[in-house]
Amino acid sequence: MEQVGRTVALTGCAGFLASHIAARLLRDGFRVRGSVRSLEKQSGYAHLLRLEGAKERLELFEADLHDAAAFRKLVDGADFVLHTASPYTLDVRDPERDLVRPAVDGTRHVLDACARAASVKRVVVTSSMAAITDEPDGARVLTEEDWNESSSLSRNPYYYSKTLAERAAWSFVEERKPSWDLVVVNPFLVIGPSLSPGVNTSNQVFVDLLRGQYPGIMNLTWGFVDVRDAADAHVLAMTTNDAHGRYVCAGETISMREVVALLADDAARRGTRPKLPKLGLDCRAGDAMVKLASYAQPAGVGQYLRSHVGRVPRYDTAKIRRDLRVQFRPVRESILDTVDDLARAGHLPS
Ligand code: NAP
Repeated sequence: MEQVGRTVALTGCAGFLASHIAARLLRDGFRVRGSVRSLEKQSGYAHLLRLEGAKERLELFEADLHDAAAFRKLVDGADFVLHTASPYTLDVRDPERDLVRPAVDGTRHVLDACARAASVKRVVVTSSMAAITDEPDGARVLTEEDWNESSSLSRNPYYYSKTLAERAAWSFVEERKPSWDLVVVNPFLVIGPSLSPGVNTSNQVFVDLLRGQYPGIMNLTWGFVDVRDAADAHVLAMTTNDAHGRYVCAGETISMREVVALLADDAARRGTRPKLPKLGLDCRAGDAMVKLASYAQPAGVGQYLRSHVGRVPRYDTAKIRRDLRVQFRPVRESILDTVDDLARAGHLPS
């Protein structure tokens, strides 16, 4: 597809993932119309204004996911729409109000705006592995065919919000039969250097590990994807003519024990003394202790621990590598780049 001069509407443009998508789009010559929640709060999006090409080809709009009409101006005239905005946090007071409503209503509002705009040719929605499972089962390899059917308002509500939002997107297409096609990207835990201020929920894992927030090494295995690869995947999902359906978007898995060893080696290289966990809880007795202790954690964190401790995710990324030709960086490289960036931004103890 010819790219230069084409216009892309990008929701949640100032977010961790979307900022990388915006940077790639601008580098590739697209015009970008990004939405932010508030134009008044400049500190939240000032980093976008500094991106290469932003001065000439980035325009920002204000749009809250709760506002049905707000996205019409954003998408009108756009060739492509990338919908990334959605609350990403595990710990909320009211899961329906704080996660499900903005995720689901926001998706419907964006797609409704797309259906009204004659210019739109393709819409890419950022879903998540959360819409595939909330309880990885090492015995079975997860693919695009799998759907999370376990989450609810009281069990992993972030996962529930992503599942319902993605289902709402596919139902919208089924019922309204718009002229554009829908492609969905389902990333696993996204990590990597940040263009935006603050620490993303997924990068927070490393801050917590290095600051001594974990009581021990738990039996957790993470599937990570580098934010730069996830951003590329979104752009390729948009520009690849025959892209279709969902795309599991993930690099390698790595256990917490391997992450701790990597961080310890890295700290030795830097001459820092992080408070990495030492106590080995990655055994059967440890699993039981972690699950018991999880009830003292904030609800969302506790539920995550109970459905992930002792489970090794296995997934098949053949479709995204074949159709979109996405290549995933080695996970250790991503982790070290993340830690470098967190240190540079002052998020880690010296
Ligand atoms: P993020 O930095 O928190 O980005 C979320 C974006 O959504 C922010 O721009 C945020 O705007 C926006 N948003 C939230 N509530 C909103 C509302 N009510 N109205 C308008 N905008 C709203 O997190 P991220 O990791 O980049 O997440 C981006 C997308 O990737 C999300 O759909 C997330 O579910 C998905 N995802 C993330 C991961 C991961 O590990 N990070 C994995 C799989 C999928 P503000 O800046 O104003 O808050």
